[in-house]
Amino acid sequence: MTDELISLRHHVHQHPELSNEEFETASLFYEKLKALEPDELYRDIGGVGLAAVFAGEEMGPTILFRTELDALPIEETIDIPYRSTVKGVSHKCGHDGHMAIIYGLAKDIAAQRPKRGRTVILFQPAEETGDGARAIVADPQYHKIKPDYAFALHNLPGNPMGQVMVRSGPFNCASRGLVISYSGYTAHAAYPETGNSPALAIADLLQEFPKIAETIDKDELLMTTTCHAIIGEPALGIAPADATFMVNLRSETNEGMELLIKAARMQVIETAEKYDLNYDISWTEIFDASVNDQECVDQVVKAAKATGHEIKWLDEPFRWAEDFGAISASAKGAMFAFGAGEDRPQIHNSDYDFPDELIARGKAIFFEIYRDYLL
Ligand SMILES: [Zn+2]
Ligand SMILES: [Zn+2]
Repeated sequence: MTDELISLRHHVHQHPELSNEEFETASLFYEKLKALEPDELYRDIGGVGLAAVFAGEEMGPTILFRTELDALPIEETIDIPYRSTVKGVSHKCGHDGHMAIIYGLAKDIAAQRPKRGRTVILFQPAEETGDGARAIVADPQYHKIKPDYAFALHNLPGNPMGQVMVRSGPFNCASRGLVISYSGYTAHAAYPETGNSPALAIADLLQEFPKIAETIDKDELLMTTTCHAIIGEPALGIAPADATFMVNLRSETNEGMELLIKAARMQVIETAEKYDLNYDISWTEIFDASVNDQECVDQVVKAAKATGHEIKWLDEPFRWAEDFGAISASAKGAMFAFGAGEDRPQIHNSDYDFPDELIARGKAIFFEIYRDYLL
């Protein structure tokens, strides 16, 4: 079984697909799940999402296990036998490994079907862009798979292999991208005073955005990271009219994010007024905070211990965002980070590769949770 799952991961690794384009990957797993003869099988949930349901005879809770389907726009820089065959795209977040774990779990569950309740095996698209989980929850089909409890893991290099990192409460930060556009009036570079350039407004934003979090009275991590700024065109005869400024906002809680959004909007508008510019604000790559439920965390810890895994309790949530928060907000849920080895490149590095030995381990932890609730 483990060899089969390792080969499966390598196959998926060779054929990565970007967020919202996971057509082949979803088709592959649709056929594989269908062969397991689940009691219900859904496709095209929240895009190309798939859900297989295994149901017991007796009443009981619905437990959901999630994997992501998408890869990243990163050119793979390691020479491995199962190297990505798609130029500029590769599985650098280890979602290939998560898929192998969750498919393996489905196979084990198909062989030992639930006595009570239901289990949902969810393959979710578009995690990297933050769209996928929210689209799943918003899909009219979601009520057919809506769980009482939801679980997910994320591999995390830089930590001992198989270490289970948990905390209750906020686990991953909320994150969103803010895109600000200013527009004024172009002028000849010899007569800039006849136009209205957004250059000084951008200079203000560069100075002010890093300080926004300090103006908010809330005891949690709040961040504003400037990511991109551009003024006008690369033409030296023109005083520019247009500018774009992009900032990443990050907070421990969704409430903290609301405060950051309000403060950021105020800064953008005040600056526009100060320089008499038109402005536009748009938001992108929106991730909710992922908040772990105490009961679910206890269940993860129990399962991790029962399968011989070391537990590490985290003092603070991770700064990275994960869209699982949208699913766990609709149920009780827990996500844990799964150590992928100390001497391994970080996820999203071009030379990262998911360690195969985590497949059997991850599957064992999830199966233990399943056994506890439904067998
Ligand atoms: Zn990622
Ligand atoms: Zn990921």
